[in-house]
Formats: sequence, structure tokens, C-alpha cells
Amino acid sequence: LPEPTDDLQSAARQVLSAVFGYTAFRGQQGDIVEHVAAGGDALVLMPTGGGKSLCYQVPAILRQQRGQGVAVVVSPLIALMHDQVGALEEAGVHAAFLNSSLTGEEASRIEREMMSGRLTLLYAAPERITTPRFMAQLASLEERGLLSMFAIDEAHCVSQWGHDFRSEYLQLSQLHERFPDVPRIALTATADDLTRADIIERLQLQDARVFISSFDRPNIRYLIVEKNGSPREQLLRFIQDEHEGEAGIVYCQSRKKVEETAEWLTSEGLNALPYHAGLDADVRRRHQDRFLREDGLIMVATIAFGMGIDKPDVRFVAHLDLPKNIEAYYQETGRAGRDGAPAEAWMTYGLADVVNQRRMIDESPAEETFKQGQRGKLDALLALAEAIDCRRVRLLAYFGEASQPCGNCDNCLNPPATWDATEAARKLLSCIYRFHQRGERFGAGHLIDVLRGKVTDKTRQYGHESLSTWGCGAELSEQQWRAVLRQLIALGHVVAEGEFNTLALMPSARAVLKGEVELRLREAEEKKARRGKASRA
Ligand code: ADP
Ligand code: ZN
Repeated sequence: LPEPTDDLQSAARQVLSAVFGYTAFRGQQGDIVEHVAAGGDALVLMPTGGGKSLCYQVPAILRQQRGQGVAVVVSPLIALMHDQVGALEEAGVHAAFLNSSLTGEEASRIEREMMSGRLTLLYAAPERITTPRFMAQLASLEERGLLSMFAIDEAHCVSQWGHDFRSEYLQLSQLHERFPDVPRIALTATADDLTRADIIERLQLQDARVFISSFDRPNIRYLIVEKNGSPREQLLRFIQDEHEGEAGIVYCQSRKKVEETAEWLTSEGLNALPYHAGLDADVRRRHQDRFLREDGLIMVATIAFGMGIDKPDVRFVAHLDLPKNIEAYYQETGRAGRDGAPAEAWMTYGLADVVNQRRMIDESPAEETFKQGQRGKLDALLALAEAIDCRRVRLLAYFGEASQPCGNCDNCLNPPATWDATEAARKLLSCIYRFHQRGERFGAGHLIDVLRGKVTDKTRQYGHESLSTWGCGAELSEQQWRAVLRQLIALGHVVAEGEFNTLALMPSARAVLKGEVELRLREAEEKKARRGKASRA
């Protein structure tokens, strides 16, 4: 590789100011631009809003200036291509996209521009790039020295470990096989170790220089609360108390819940719209446009909403259901506060979330090794949710970044009181063990009734009032028992199985039963809530 010259550096800065109107590169942008413009391969990990686009746009312009032709940008999102090309053309950069929204005539015109080598950036979806026809066009460009580079955006889509796997991305390995001398830059906003390794292998980026930016989003405050009886009331209180009239996104798992929640928030006087893949394309577009244009709208959505949405003043992102893993949580919460002003990521979670997510993995048709990977990722998210120390430290550690307590998350601002739940856990586990001995299985509700010695038709019917564990846990509330059980499930000591989520012990429960493992839990929310109210009054 040629050494980056001063010449290249100053040329890059000149493009930055003349074309984009910026005075300085941010973070590692300058190094990345130089490396890629000089013909090196790169893998760029940079958080959303960090400025990934410039990392390939500036090198593409520099290389075009040096007569090296067209840069091909792989992007999975039509909307995003549209926006970027519009902005580039406005800045005087010759750019275009090829996708299914074009007429045959428009597409031919753009192909001619590309084949002439005059185009600076061409955006296209991966499935188009890997067609034999397009590959032949690229080959012709390359023979004439007019294929300047490849940029692969949203590179995590190539990994099954990523939250957004797209099989078309797998075909992109062809680019390196067919055009080994054309530099490539792959970019993503989320990749833990596993995903990162996968991207490198599948895109054959073993020789690429890896640029990892800090993933910290200091202006986002992370808040994770335990679900009480009515999570949507908790949500409403959060919005009314902290974000009256501000724009936000509320994520729910199912379409049905999206619609119900949007309706309910509206009936409570808030300005909320639903968004999910089951709505007409028209409705979706209209809601998205309103969210982008109007002030203070709340979008209640499934994960179908958000990728490529660049609304700077989203003041909160709320999760009514647990996301799939930490990467998804980071990506979704990352849509808050892109303008750098304070924003909040709020999530409420409970026992049912843990049970549901585990079951979704167990019941999926995937292979066992894949499920194992997914369970590990879910565990990491649960550990974040149950954490009693700094959320941000945990979050960044997941992405391989060491940091100090942030002073701007719920646990830093209001350190949770903890209690030693070892004895309680043993009581709970031995209660399940007694059921096992009698060949019986029950769900959380009945188990907790037995622990608390609460007489019901069911406790009578099964004669459970004579169990040695009957009423042994009367000192704890139902909420506290749910928290203990949630931890035990999160830690894999207990599983909830089948249609009725009946509970069973896992082998690792032995160590807890024998008192070999200590369990520290955060104090139940009900106490904290009371304290909170008292101090506010
Ligand atoms: P990403 O793709 O990483 O989410 P973008 O490339 O969309 O981020 O950039 C996010 C925002 O930051 C954009 O509005 C962009 O114009 C702006 N930006 C990027 N780099 C710079 C820079 N060096 N100076 C000023 N603003 C920048
Ligand atoms: Zn913190």
C-alpha cells in the first residue's frame, strides 16, 4: 500500500469543507478516510449518528478526483439511499442509486452514467449487486480501472448473530473473490465480538484495518424499571412526568400490542401513532412522515420501525417488551438524542418477558448451536436489566469497551438497595423440588401462593397446605417473590416450560439449594416507588 501522504490528508480536509461544509473530521473519520482513500480495506464500528457516511463518501470523492472511477455502495435500505443521494447531489457530488423504485428507463440512464466512470457514488441493494448482469458491468469497469472501491453499509446484516441478518449479504463475499484489488470498507453501528468475527470471516476482511469508535452515547440516560401491575400506566407516567409534548418511540413486541398501546395513549390525551409491518404501506409512510415532520409525536412501533430513521430530536425511546439482545437494545435506544441533547432510554421488564423470550428461543426451529448463542445473548441482556451497578459500564463492556460509572443512569443516580436473597432462593427452589417429588408441576402464581401460605381452591385441591414448604416465605410480598423467580430463571436455575409455563429445576439449581451460591437482588420496586413519591411530595 502507498503510504498516506500529506497531500491526501489536505485533499481530504478540503473535500470535507468544500463539499460537506464541515471544519474538522470527527473522531476516527480522518484516519479512516485516509486509509481507504489510499486503497486500504477497513472495518468500521461506529455508533449510530457517529458519522459513518463520510468515511466512504470522502474517499469516493478523492478517488474519483484521481481518475479511479465509481465507488459502489451496498445499502439495504431504499429510503436511506434516496436521502443520501439527494444530499450528495445537492452538495454537487455526482451520485445515484439503482433500486426497484426506478423505471426501466431511469435505471438504464444511471447504468450508462456508471459505465462511463463519471459517477462518483452508486448506491444499490445487495441483491442487485450480486446479479450476473451487474457483476459483469463491474468487471468491465474494473478492467478499465474505473471501479474505485466498495462500501458495505450495515455490515452486521451479513451475520446470523446480528439482529438483522439478510441472506443477500452472504453473496457479497463475491466482491472480494472477483475483485481482490478493489478496496473495501464495511461499516456497522453494532457488533459484539461474535458478530465482528463473523463479519470479518464472511466478507473476507481478514486483512482489513479495524476502526472501533467509542459506543458511548453520554447524552442518553438509561433507565430500566421492574413491571408492576400495569406497565402501560408506568409508561404513561414516565411520558407525562418527563417528556410531555416531546417526540419519542415506544417499542412493543407484537402488532396487536402496538395498536392497543397507541390507542390507549391517544385516549389518555397523548399524540401517538402506530407503526408495524402489518399496516398498509400507505399508512406506514404517512405515519413515518408525520413523525419526522411534526413536533412531539409518539410512535408506538414494532422493530419494523426505526432503521434509517434520522430524526435528531427524539427525546425518549421506551421498551414495553424486552428487546432480543443487547445489540438490539443499543440500536433501538440509540435512536434517542441524535442531536446530542439529553434523552432517555426507558424500559420496563418483568418475569413474563424473561419467560417469553426464553420460550421463543427454545421453540424456534433453529439449530441447537444457534439457540445456544441466542440464549447467551439474552442472558447478557437480562444481566443488564438486573444490574445493580452502572448500566452504561455494563453496556459498553458488552461491546468490549472499559469505562467508569457514568453518573447518568438510574443505578448511578439512585443506587438500588440490595438484599441477600440466597435464603429466599433456596425456599423457592425447594418448593419446586417438593412438587417434583409428588410428580406435580405448577406455574409462578401457584408456587408463590404456596410459599406465602395463601389458601386458594388449588392449594386445597392438591393438599399443598400440608407441604413442609407451605407458608415458609410469608415474609416476602408477591412482587418480591416474582423478582426472586425472575432472577432464578434469568440465571438458568429454573425453566418455565410448555403452554402453562410450568416451572422445573435445572441442574445448576443444586448449588443454590445447597447454599453454595450467593444471590444478591435489587430491592423490589414497590418500596422504591414509595420512597420516590415521598421524596417528591
Ligand atoms: P451514521 O451513519 O454513523 O449514523 P451519519 O453519517 O448519518 O451517521 O452522520 C450523522 C450526522 O453527523 C449527520 O448529520 C452528519 O452530517 C453529521 N456529521 C458527520 N460527520 C461530521 C463532521 N465531521 N462534522 C460535523 N458533522 C458531521
Ligand atoms: Zn451509570
